[in-house]
Amino acid sequence: MGMHKRVLIANRGEIAIRIAKAAHALGMETVSVYAPVDGQALHTRMTTHSAMLPTDGIAGYLEVAALVRIAEETGCDCVHPGYGFLSENSDFASALSAKGIAFVGPSPSALRLFGDKVAARKLAAELGIPTVSGSEGALSSASEAEAVAASIGYPVMLKASAGGGGRGMRAVHGSQDLAEAFHRCQSEAASAFGDGSVFIEKLVERPRHIEVQILADGQGGTVHLFERDCSVQIRNQKVIEIAPAAGLDIVLRARLHADAVKLAEAADYANAGTVEFLVSPETGEHYFIECNPRIQVEHTVTEEVIGVDLVQSQFRIAAGASLADLGLANQGAVGDPRGYAVQARVVAQGAGTITGYKEPSGVGVRVDACGYQGLAPPPQFDPLLAKLIGTSRNGSSLGDAVARALSALDEFHIAGLPTNLAQLKGILSEPEVAAGDARTTFMAEHAALEAIAPADAGGEAVKFLNEKASALAGPGGKGPKLPVEATLPPLDIPAGSQGLECPMAGQLLQLSVETGQRVEAGETLAVISAMKMEAAVAAPCSGTVTAIQMVAAGDTVAAGQVMAVITPDAGDAERDLAALDPNETWQPVLDEVQQLQSLALARLGPESQEPGVVRQRNRNKLTCRQRIDRMFDPGSFREIGSLAGFASYDEYGDITAFTPANHVGGSGKVEGRTAIVCADDFTSRGGHADGAISNKSRHLDNLSIQMNVPSIRLLDGSSGGGSVATMVPNQAK
Ligand code: ADP
Ligand code: ADP
Ligand code: MG
Repeated sequence: MGMHKRVLIANRGEIAIRIAKAAHALGMETVSVYAPVDGQALHTRMTTHSAMLPTDGIAGYLEVAALVRIAEETGCDCVHPGYGFLSENSDFASALSAKGIAFVGPSPSALRLFGDKVAARKLAAELGIPTVSGSEGALSSASEAEAVAASIGYPVMLKASAGGGGRGMRAVHGSQDLAEAFHRCQSEAASAFGDGSVFIEKLVERPRHIEVQILADGQGGTVHLFERDCSVQIRNQKVIEIAPAAGLDIVLRARLHADAVKLAEAADYANAGTVEFLVSPETGEHYFIECNPRIQVEHTVTEEVIGVDLVQSQFRIAAGASLADLGLANQGAVGDPRGYAVQARVVAQGAGTITGYKEPSGVGVRVDACGYQGLAPPPQFDPLLAKLIGTSRNGSSLGDAVARALSALDEFHIAGLPTNLAQLKGILSEPEVAAGDARTTFMAEHAALEAIAPADAGGEAVKFLNEKASALAGPGGKGPKLPVEATLPPLDIPAGSQGLECPMAGQLLQLSVETGQRVEAGETLAVISAMKMEAAVAAPCSGTVTAIQMVAAGDTVAAGQVMAVITPDAGDAERDLAALDPNETWQPVLDEVQQLQSLALARLGPESQEPGVVRQRNRNKLTCRQRIDRMFDPGSFREIGSLAGFASYDEYGDITAFTPANHVGGSGKVEGRTAIVCADDFTSRGGHADGAISNKSRHLDNLSIQMNVPSIRLLDGSSGGGSVATMVPNQAK
């Protein structure tokens, strides 16, 4: 059976690289595509050819016509869609087949069926495969959703019919929250999947997420490659994935496999696919939730324990190979899983440029990644940087694979950018993960894991590599370039007026205000998308919009950036106060802000006993904030970033502890000129910061400032960060 000659990879990131490697191994040529903002992405350098997409951002990877045209122009005879983007888009597959180009995946009709969760649920139910009770079809309005939820009873799960990757999904615990959740789901789904249909399912309590990998040749052969446990999730998105699922009742396990194969066969499924179930270990029940007709992020763990290259298999099946050609003629030929494999998804948790990067290696360690030193991941995309897979030997326990993944995480060095490495280690260290009994509620049951700070991951070697990376990033080397944020001059907020501030850095999806417009307090004026979630930004007060910043949908916005100014009309303030429930004013938020600020000051102030601060004091040096105080005109520095950090709350919602982030950000005046600061504050890192402090002080002595000098910007056209910095005394005299 001949292979295709050249594949267009209609994706980005680690999966585009993974696909290119499989294609090259089969002797094929590869063409990658990239949105202009992705010009520096590694996948563009891992293929035979690379073509720029006409449209920037996520939209670029979703443009069917442009991708088909590029495939034709570059002489591709097949297209691999990866996951996400157009991977489940039947119009894309049809458009390609009309041009005689093969789509590496199932048929357009299977994509149509499984791309629509409502249709898939219906088919499963017809086949006698258990589903979760819920709405018959998609819901047309919030009020219809309320009626269905009332009939099946709360709590419910609102889900996008076209959803994936945990997006467009909300658990709703009572009718008061349903309408807002419905609109957010609809909008998230429309912008992420181009289809805003939403349906409802009953919420299954504390389930495990178990999914079955299917491989079918479209010539009558269908096998399963056993199952994966993907119960550890954050916001319904998988974080840790395990193959095979440990401790599963053998009858239940056989039923999952049989139902998955039955569904694939009924749909005349071809190529690789995954059938997902929620499983209640207490009752032994299982419920079909969806089928993903594509390669999945976590396909790696199956490959490790079954010994089949799934992406190569996809290519071979697309070129006409049968399962027998692949050596998988029947279930017996697949064999049993050998050992266990555990994948951890390493993601960026904020913007920045990677200044140091080293992947772990060794026996039983695999890394599929797209990170490198110098990469500044564009914030509009999925933040996945690397997938780390630890595999244990045949006959060993899940605990052995978890231990391997843990020690590899310890070895992973990523500097310059906050990541979830420390959090992943925290998660894998919880006993129920190694025991195979984590539920989808795992993160909620371990709230402290949510609050694990990005910093301070890694063992001794990583600490050493961090020191090396920060030494290189000093004035002698090229300092890390900050992503361009807040390049627009800040809007002036006249006394009495209020700013519409971005709550977080992200991509602006919608800004629905015009100068002169009347707005009501609490009205949604903008929607920001960050880290795969949408957040509505509400008017802080009633009044008239008196100024707007030149930002438009699609632009990147910074945390704290003021997008519009609202000037209350006479009487607005009283009306707002009278109209609002006291619990719905900003007062509780302001109180909390004040409390966080005083906690931050207590920890990082000049009198603090924090090791980093003590060290500065003992050396007669100033802390970051003390220096800023001296640099800026008195009282002019307004710190926006002091609230970033991790607060713990007790069961009554009161703050019990607060660890401020190791960043100082804000704006003020230096000799009357507006300046903004975005600096690392090494004093907040405690003992671990010792090396960083001494390095920084040594390299920056002539500049006498302990922070990233290039990040202090004067906004009147002069770019001289250094000249500002030299004004700051280093020694505390
Ligand atoms: P996606 O397409 O985003 O992967 P899924 O339908 O596969 O969406 O669900 C993803 C996750 O969301 C599940 O693994 C589970 O944790 C949670 N979830 C989905 N539906 C339900 C439900 N009815 N009850 C409880 N949890 C659910
Ligand atoms: P599920 O959809 O059930 O979570 P996966 O674990 O395979 O299945 O997740 C796929 C998700 O990954 C997509 O739905 C999308 O949110 C995200 N994604 C899409 N494209 C990319 C990409 N190029 N790089 C990283 N993540 C992506
Ligand atoms: Mg899913």
